[in-house]
Amino acid sequence: MQNSNAIDQTWLKETLSSLFSALGNIYTLDIESDAREFMLNLLDFIENKFSGSTKSFRGKNSTTIASQNLEISKTEDPFTIISLPLKDFTSLVRMVVDLFHELEMDYVLENESSVPAKMSMKIADIPEIVALSPNLLVHGSKTGTQIKLKNSISISFELDLGLYCSNEQKVDLELVALNVHIGNGSSGHYVAFVRDENNSQWILFNDLEPSPKSMSKEDMIKGYFHTSSCPSYGGFASPYLLIYRHKKGCHCSKCKK
Ligand SMILES: [Zn+2]
Repeated sequence: MQNSNAIDQTWLKETLSSLFSALGNIYTLDIESDAREFMLNLLDFIENKFSGSTKSFRGKNSTTIASQNLEISKTEDPFTIISLPLKDFTSLVRMVVDLFHELEMDYVLENESSVPAKMSMKIADIPEIVALSPNLLVHGSKTGTQIKLKNSISISFELDLGLYCSNEQKVDLELVALNVHIGNGSSGHYVAFVRDENNSQWILFNDLEPSPKSMSKEDMIKGYFHTSSCPSYGGFASPYLLIYRHKKGCHCSKCKK
């Protein structure tokens, strides 16, 4: 992020702690859906405080509805996080494909007649940092509580989103950080991994352990994404937020500028 080295650490600590207490009053952070809202607010805060005029996380989606190849409507919506659809999938790539999948629909015209139409979404403006959030919670109609899907999700360390952009051929992204939720829909624990730029190891940040721990990509996968339950804590582990940035040598229009 721009100018991040210039941020005064004391100021940062004080600002974040006042933000946490303010948001902590609004959200019950041990409830998973509230934690998601909290995280969105936190990203917005980071974006507004530190990104300057070029927003790092902020992109734009465009949704087009067309009938017989004629465009009926086009809307554009800003996003900070790309929220992936709740489906019984086991891979992140499959979730991405599903999100941008063209949908057939009946479009109701002003005279109340309807025409068969197709709706498709594309990324109109790819952000500098792409945050993907798989949605793994189902609202249990019988229990009235949130239930977490127990799918072992395979994550992607590299991702090309070019196919899903309206004006890019290739957008080569690499995973640089992720956080993981271990537990069920009503309780759990979060840990975060950040890639170490110096040696390609992954650093685990877990507030139940005294200090950050470095591990290989293989050990991270084995420990957190390979089995149906996370060996370290016994709970079910799922990727919750994945942070990608453009790879060196990415040929998208943003990187070529
Ligand atoms: Zn790029």
